[in-house]
Amino acid sequence: MTDFAMTINGVSAPSANGFAVLNPATNSVVATAPECSEDQLDAAMDAAAEAHRHWRLDDGVRRVALRAAADVIVDSEDELAAVLTVEQGKPLADSRMEVRATALWFRYYADFEVPAEPGLRDDRAIVEIRRQPLGVVVAITPWNFPLALAAWKMAPALRAGNTVVLKPSPHTPLATLKLGELLAGVLPPGVLNVVSGSDPLGARMTSHAIPRKISFTGSIATGKRVAASAANDLKRVTLELGGNDPAILLDDVDPSFIAERLFWSAFHNNGQVCMAVKRVYVPERLHDEVVEALAAIARSVQVGDGTDPKTQLGPINNRQQFDIVSGLIGDALDRGGFVAAGGRAIDGPGLFHEPTILAGVTDGTAIVDQEQFGPVLPVVSYRDLDEVVERANGTHFGLSGSVWGADEDLAAEVATRLECGTAWVNTHLAVRPSIPFGGMKWSGLGVENGAWGYNEFTSLRVLHRAVG
Ligand code: NAD
Repeated sequence: MTDFAMTINGVSAPSANGFAVLNPATNSVVATAPECSEDQLDAAMDAAAEAHRHWRLDDGVRRVALRAAADVIVDSEDELAAVLTVEQGKPLADSRMEVRATALWFRYYADFEVPAEPGLRDDRAIVEIRRQPLGVVVAITPWNFPLALAAWKMAPALRAGNTVVLKPSPHTPLATLKLGELLAGVLPPGVLNVVSGSDPLGARMTSHAIPRKISFTGSIATGKRVAASAANDLKRVTLELGGNDPAILLDDVDPSFIAERLFWSAFHNNGQVCMAVKRVYVPERLHDEVVEALAAIARSVQVGDGTDPKTQLGPINNRQQFDIVSGLIGDALDRGGFVAAGGRAIDGPGLFHEPTILAGVTDGTAIVDQEQFGPVLPVVSYRDLDEVVERANGTHFGLSGSVWGADEDLAAEVATRLECGTAWVNTHLAVRPSIPFGGMKWSGLGVENGAWGYNEFTSLRVLHRAVG
């Protein structure tokens, strides 16, 4: 694949310098992506600031443009999905789903009815409260869902009248660059600028003088750096960071009934999902049965190149993440854990790893306490429900969690005791464009999606008119 350029002020912007993007299934170079220069970043910021002067004025124009963007994305599904699979690794069917979700978010925000803010009218004043855009928004995304997570930022930011400078992860810049090129056909110049580069480019963007808002999705460590950088200039921030989601199984659960859904709640996208199930807590008496039910599924899963239609799980996206996953499994085995399924890397040039179910581990082991972000799931037993809720909450993470059981009301009651942004009952990973998503504690600041996500790209403006 060739010809990936940035989009700055509505035109294609190649770069003198570039970096290789690898296909994690083959370890071969897919393409070279442009490394954004200082001047190009300034040009992107200037273009966004200039475009904002007009883009902010007419909500009707913005709705039409967002609808056109959704249409272009739908029409480009084949092209975008193919690029996404070779740079990210996910099966082509999952890439197609991601492209459709990207379009869905644009369509949702095109159709979104901005709620009226309650004003005031009395014998002294007429007070109107409106939401106004913030200006230029920097959007920075990770490598697990490059297109969908960019849409979570772009669609509400643009609808609210902001303009955007977007930077994808250096591991997966290509589909986003392609998207920028496609959307240049339906958005006015400068409204959406897409730049690419290695991590220091992100730091340059967050410290740049022009943007007024940073919307960031990525790791907790980087999120803290982004917050510190934004603080210098009091830029607004939304941070969607890492998770270590617990799934608590209650005593009345039927392991064979939930196993399939629970497994895919942990292993979708090869476990590279911020809100995936990352530790499973099981009543002691059900431990072996749950481990075996999950292990049986793990053994049956087809791992391979995402371009092969039989593939259910692709490779891990990058070497660094592969080493984290291998290291956590090794550490768990050293500490008395055992492998119920999988456990090993798969030979070959690609970053393939067997889906792995670990048992015999408990809290205090890195695989339980940290975010693995890969195809390995620890199953941990418990005796007392109150105690397990405390264990689930005893962490800096607070993204989401779930409770599984036959008595749905009891499960819902336990779910409300989880300290996290989203608590699911008998499911996990379920997100919708209209429902807010965000984390507590170190898992994030602010939310995305729905009216709440839209509001984060606005500030309130009060117009107070004296009467009489
Ligand atoms: P990362 O933090 O390494 O990188 C994320 C993005 O930040 C990349 O585009 C990167 O180039 C950029 N970046 C790096 N250093 C920067 C800096 N100093 N300033 C500004 N930008 C910088 O994360 P990753 O490894 O790409 O993604 C995996 C992490 O993302 C996991 O922890 C996962 O849980 C999290 N995540 C969270 C959500 C959510 O919605 N909460 C969604 C997906 C992923």
